[in-house]
This record gives sequence, structure tokens and C-alpha cells, in this order.
Amino acid sequence: MEKMDFKAEASAGGESLAAKLCAACGMCCNGVLFYGTRLQPEDSIRSLTALGMKLKRKDGEMQFLQPCPAYKDSCCSIYEKRPQRCRTFSCKQLQSLNASESTEEAAFAKISEAKTLTDRVRDLFAQLGDTRENKAFARRYAALFTPPLDPSPESEQLRQELQVAMRELETMLTSDFRTEAIA
Ligand code: SF4
Ligand code: SF4
Repeated sequence: MEKMDFKAEASAGGESLAAKLCAACGMCCNGVLFYGTRLQPEDSIRSLTALGMKLKRKDGEMQFLQPCPAYKDSCCSIYEKRPQRCRTFSCKQLQSLNASESTEEAAFAKISEAKTLTDRVRDLFAQLGDTRENKAFARRYAALFTPPLDPSPESEQLRQELQVAMRELETMLTSDFRTEAIA
């Protein structure tokens, strides 16, 4: 997925590397990294709605919730018409590559590490009864800690494991991927 404009890459090789990394990752589109994405003045609500984006108003601003409905088969299905924040967002991994402060191998390794942590959290969600893949991780996590909670020792144990796994995932996402909140 060509998630972003790989700015300093005047070289086609750089762009293709970004596309390969994003295709292997997808975390800024699939609800792992963000809960939602705010629209910008350049965005057309009418056009995005026509493209199937489900827009909501929150705190006076329009946004679309993640996982993004345009994220299909590890690609942005509306790439040419994607919202402005999607055009300008560049995660820390891409920024490091862009600045030649990292390598392709290191970036793929980080994505792989994040996916392992993500899979662990997703598995714990499912064990606790939440299989809603159409909701952002943050939302699913909050729901599982909203009373009334299942008081059984098994569920209590799973919630504790989930807390640890989510903390580990969030620490990594903040340290290695997020540059700012985009919702
Ligand atoms: S988090 Fe970074 S590497 Fe992953 S899809 Fe988004 S821009 Fe690409
Ligand atoms: S519009 Fe495209 S780039 Fe933006 S979040 Fe959705 S799938 Fe990702």
C-alpha cells in the first residue's frame, strides 16, 4: 500500500520501499495505531462519503473511524482520493528511512515485532469474547474493561494478560510508529 508520499525520495526506489513497508504493515489504517482520523479543510465530505467513507462529527470536527473502510486487501482502495491526513502522515519508521537513519531490514523487523504484539492482543480480545475486527483496538480494549465485568478467575486472568500485552504494544507503537495523534 502506498500510504504516504515518500517525500525525500526523489528516487523511485524509495517510493517502492515505502509501498512495500506499508503493504506489510497497515497499522495506520487498520485500527491498531489510531482510533480515527480527522478531516482537513482540503477534504471534500461529499466526495469521501460517495467513496464509502463513514464520516462522523466529534467535538465539532468531522472524522472517519478506524479501521478505515477503504483499507482493503492490505491497500488503500481510494489512494488517489485519500484524505489529506493520509497524504501527509509518515510514521517514525518511514521518517527514519527517509532521513537515512534506519535500514529496510530494521524497518521490516519493527513491523514484524509490532505484528507479533498485535496478534497477541487480538487473540486475547477473542478469548475474552470480542471478535469485532471492524473496531479499533483502543475501542475494543476499553469495552472489555467497562463494567459489568465477568468475575470468573479465568476472565480475570485473561484481562490481566491483556493489560500487559496492550501496554507492551502501546509502548512500542508510541516509541516506534506514532508521530502524533491523528484523531
Ligand atoms: S504505520 Fe508506517 S509503515 Fe505502517 S502502514 Fe502506516 S505509514 Fe506505512
Ligand atoms: S483512506 Fe486510505 S490511507 Fe487513509 S486510512 Fe483509509 S486506507 Fe489508509
